[in-house]
Amino acid sequence: MQMQSHLLSYHVVIIGTGLAGLATAIYLAEAAALSNQNISILLVSKAAASDTNTNWAQGGIAAVASDEDSFEAHILDTLDAGAGKNDLHIVRKVIEAAPDAMQDLIRWGIDLDKKVDGTYDLVKEGGHQFSRIWHKADSTGHTLQATLMHRVSQFKSIICIENTAIVQIEKDAQGTFHIQAISNHTSDQTYPILTVKNCIHIQCAQLVLATGGLGMVYEKTTNQSIATGDGIVFASKLGAILKDLSFVQFHPTALYEANQSGTYLITEALRGEGAILRNIEGVDFMPQYDARASLAPRDIVSRAIMCEIKKSKSEYVYLDATGLSVSTIQKHFPNIQSVCQQKSGIDICKQWIPVVPVEHYACGGVQVDEFGGVVGVEALYAIGEVASTGLHGANRLASNSLIEGIVFAKWAAIKMMNALSHDTALPISAYHFKPILVKKIDRTLVQNCLSNYAGIEKTTADLIKGFNELSQVYQEANTLKHWSLKEWENDLLCQVGILIFKDALAQTENKGVFFNLDFD
Ligand SMILES: Cc1cc2nc3c(=O)[nH]c(=O)nc-3n(C[C@H](O)[C@H](O)[C@H](O)COP(=O)(O)OP(=O)(O)OC[C@H]3O[C@@H](n4cnc5c(N)ncnc54)[C@H](O)[C@@H]3O)c2cc1C
Repeated sequence: MQMQSHLLSYHVVIIGTGLAGLATAIYLAEAAALSNQNISILLVSKAAASDTNTNWAQGGIAAVASDEDSFEAHILDTLDAGAGKNDLHIVRKVIEAAPDAMQDLIRWGIDLDKKVDGTYDLVKEGGHQFSRIWHKADSTGHTLQATLMHRVSQFKSIICIENTAIVQIEKDAQGTFHIQAISNHTSDQTYPILTVKNCIHIQCAQLVLATGGLGMVYEKTTNQSIATGDGIVFASKLGAILKDLSFVQFHPTALYEANQSGTYLITEALRGEGAILRNIEGVDFMPQYDARASLAPRDIVSRAIMCEIKKSKSEYVYLDATGLSVSTIQKHFPNIQSVCQQKSGIDICKQWIPVVPVEHYACGGVQVDEFGGVVGVEALYAIGEVASTGLHGANRLASNSLIEGIVFAKWAAIKMMNALSHDTALPISAYHFKPILVKKIDRTLVQNCLSNYAGIEKTTADLIKGFNELSQVYQEANTLKHWSLKEWENDLLCQVGILIFKDALAQTENKGVFFNLDFD
C-alpha cells in the first residue's frame, strides 16, 4: 500500500462509532461545553459510521425502573449469569448508574416504546427476574445509533471521519499517541466529515478504543464484518492486559439457513414474551436442563441446544412463537417477522423457526479500571465490547452490554476531562512509525480453526490442536509487499484467534460460557 501522510492533532481520538464511541464523544463534548473548555474530539470508523454492531442490537437496554424490581435483583441476575466471576463492585456501580444513563439517552432524544399510560414498556429477557429491558420494538440498536449520531452532529467540537481504518498505534516517550489511519473511500454521510486521502498521521493526548467485538474470528457470528478484534491487538501491543478472551458468548437462537452463512439473530425477548424452544421432534426440552426453561441464561440454553442437536443428528432446533398473539408479534417483533418471511419463507405466527447457536459477544477483552482506563497504559481507554470491565464475569446477561457501554463512556469522559483541564495544548510533533508488516493469512482457515476447536464445547486436545495449527500458520506466513485492508484484518484475526486459544488453555474450570468437556 502506497502511503502519503497528512498530520492531524486532537485532544481526544475515539476509534469507533458504535454506542461506546459516540456516547464517549457526547459526554466529553457536553462536559467541555459546561466548563467552557476548548477540547477537540475526533471520532473514526473504519466503515460507514452506522456500520456497527450497535446498529443491529435487537432486544434492548437493561436498567431497573419498575417498583417490583430492584438494584439487588439486577445485581443477582448479573452475577448468576456471570457464574460469580464478575467484579461485584463494578456490577453494583454499573447497575446503580443505569437508570441515570437511561435519562441521558432520553435527554438526547431516544424514542423508546411506551405503554398506553405513557410509561416505558419494559420487557423481560433470558436470565432477568423482572421486566427491565427498555427497547424500540426489535430494533433498539438502530434507534440508539441514530439518536447518538444525531446528538454528535450537534457539537462543533466533534469531527467524525468515516471509512477510515486505524492500522497502527504507537506511543512516544512524552505520552503522545501516534496513529496511522487509511482512508479507503469517502462517503456521503450527512454529518461532519473530514475527507482525507490515503494515510493520515493522527496525534492525541487521550485515546479511546471503542472498536467493538471479534465475532469475525468465527465462521458464524451475529456480528457485523467490522468486528475483527482490532482494539484487542492495538491494546496488547501498547502493553495492556487481556482478560478472559476465551469467554466468547454464543447466542442460542440465530436463524438457521441451510447452506448459508446467514446469521440473523432472533432476540431473546421473543422467549421473554413466551416463545419456547423445541427439539426436532417438537419436544419442549429446556425444562430438562434448567428450571428457568427457555429463559435460562445463554450459556445454558446454547449447550442444551447443542446437546439436542447432537442427540437428534439434526442441524437445528426450533423456536416456537406460535403461542404469541399476532398483535404482540407485529408490535414487538416486526423485523424478525419480516426477515424470517423473506429469508426462509417462515410465518413466525404460524410456523416454528429453525434456530442454531452462533458466536455473539466477547465477554472478555482489554482489562480496564472502574473509569474505563486501560490497566497499565496511561491515557488509553477501552469502552464497550472491546473492554473487560468485570461486569459480565464468565457470561454476559442479556441487554447488559449496551448499558455497560453507556455508563463507562460517562465515567471515562469525566476522567479524561480531569486529565485535560491541566494541559489543553494539542500535541504536534514529528514521528517515525515502524513499518506495518502484514502476513498473508487465509481468513477461512482461521474461522474454521476457531469454530472447530474453540466452539461452545471444548476439549483440551482440540484447544492444543487449534493453538498449534494457528501459531504455525502465523509463523510460517509470508509478509505481504502490498496489502489491502481486508488482508490487514486477516492478519489480525489470526492473532486474535491465537490469543483466544492461549486464554482457553489457561482456564482451569468450567464457568459460564467456558465449557471444556475434560473438566466436567
Ligand atoms: C445482532 C446483535 C444483537 C445485539 N443485541 C443486543 C441487545 O439487545 N442488548 C445489548 O445490550 N447488547 C446487544 N448486543 C451486543 C451489543 O450490540 C454490542 O456489544 C455493542 O453494540 C458494542 O458496541 P461498541 O460501541 O463497543 O462496538 P460497535 O457498535 O460494534 O462499534 C465498533 C466501531 O469500531 C470501529 N472500528 C473497529 N476497528 C476499527 C479500526 N481499526 N479503525 C477504525 N474504526 C474501527 C467500527 O468501524 C465501529 O464503528 C447485540 C449484538 C449483536 C451483534
